[in-house]
Amino acid sequence: MTVIPIKPTVEAAAFNRSRQAREAEVMLDKLIDDFDENPKSMQYFYDLFRTVYIHGVTLPRPAGPQVGMTCIQAPEELIYAVGATPIRLCNGAYHYDQIGADFMPAKSCSLVKATLGRLHDQEKGVPRIGKLDMIVNPSTCDQKKKAGVMMEDMGYPVHDLEFPNVKESEASRVYWQRSVRDFAVRLQQLTGKKLTRNRLNAAMARTRRAQIAFRALHNLRRKAPSLVLGKDIFLVTNAYFFDDLERWTAATEALVEELKQRDADGFNAAQKKAPRILFTGSPPIFPNLKLPLLIEEAGGVVVADETCSANRMLYDMPVVDEWMVNHMIDSLADHYLKPCTCPIFTRNDDRRRRLIDLARDFNADGVVYQAFSGCQVYEMEQRSVAKTLNDAGIPMLYIETDYSPDDMGQLTTRIEAFLESIKARKRQAKVS
Ligand code: SF4
Ligand code: SF4
Repeated sequence: MTVIPIKPTVEAAAFNRSRQAREAEVMLDKLIDDFDENPKSMQYFYDLFRTVYIHGVTLPRPAGPQVGMTCIQAPEELIYAVGATPIRLCNGAYHYDQIGADFMPAKSCSLVKATLGRLHDQEKGVPRIGKLDMIVNPSTCDQKKKAGVMMEDMGYPVHDLEFPNVKESEASRVYWQRSVRDFAVRLQQLTGKKLTRNRLNAAMARTRRAQIAFRALHNLRRKAPSLVLGKDIFLVTNAYFFDDLERWTAATEALVEELKQRDADGFNAAQKKAPRILFTGSPPIFPNLKLPLLIEEAGGVVVADETCSANRMLYDMPVVDEWMVNHMIDSLADHYLKPCTCPIFTRNDDRRRRLIDLARDFNADGVVYQAFSGCQVYEMEQRSVAKTLNDAGIPMLYIETDYSPDDMGQLTTRIEAFLESIKARKRQAKVS
């Protein structure tokens, strides 16, 4: 059984009484207590979130620099290969969203506001992370681009990882490969360690083991009846942002084994006839797991997702069979560009294709699309996504929201109505 090293401190005791700890506690308690028969192996993740988010404990990290990442487009294998530790900084706390609102425009994305809100006091160090030696900020959406400069103004060393607006052209591919090579150079300067073929291979072997564990988990979600709820999967993948890589992998492998046993026992984690939901859009990040929570409290089950806090972050495994380090970096860069379905791209046919594939593979009855208010790219893509799904006979519920808990009542009503309409549709299909 994987154990989280806990060292309570005086600071941790004070943190425990803070608003952010309370916000995390309310969400975590709901995720655990509102459901029966949570998988036993989820205890590791429940304890991890309680330790870090509620007790405010900073996890021990390996020696070497810490590199904050503001998006999944930064190749973490390069960071591990030079002996540094990546930490994803995307934040889901309403508490930090409100702090970020003091210096961001009123209509900006909660994710970016909360990420900046958490980083704002560089003097005190980043809560639950401590000192960051560098932040890598892929220049994806406009808000992320401008946020990088604001982080620099706060005193952080920021590396802008230049990201192309299109992914189909050879020119953008070459531009991105060059950008990733520059990042590799900057990392080597930071750590003083040379990036070698062996180090990169070793780093890729570590992340691959984690990705294999995730893929096994992902594939088990195809099963009907469902073996696990989506709210737990989002906790597992959110833990990947900050947990020790090997500990996370071992805990995920344990969960996979338990789910296999559940499958053999004919276990059903969801309600009978629970509508199967595919989740897409702006990423659910703890403690803002309100939509997955509301869907499953209302009797649905999230069976798959197309988000950068879960599936998009871990599904695709880099396969690099080059011999020269620079060629390995180029291959790695390709791996990060080609499968990306983030709406920041000018065209995004891949995203619609991926959604249809996921809906079919996972036998989804409907799609819930979350767009954070102020995220223009997710807001703008919703019409074309809805049309594609509609043409394929898959209903979609579009929800524009933010990190505030104020709309939970109204969202519950909309989600319940959506799930009811799916059930009615299925009944109808049975009769005709
Ligand atoms: S939504 Fe897109 S730009 Fe934002 S963190 Fe996710 S992958 Fe990166
Ligand atoms: S949700 Fe939208 S605005 Fe926010 S980080 Fe992602 S792409 Fe950018």
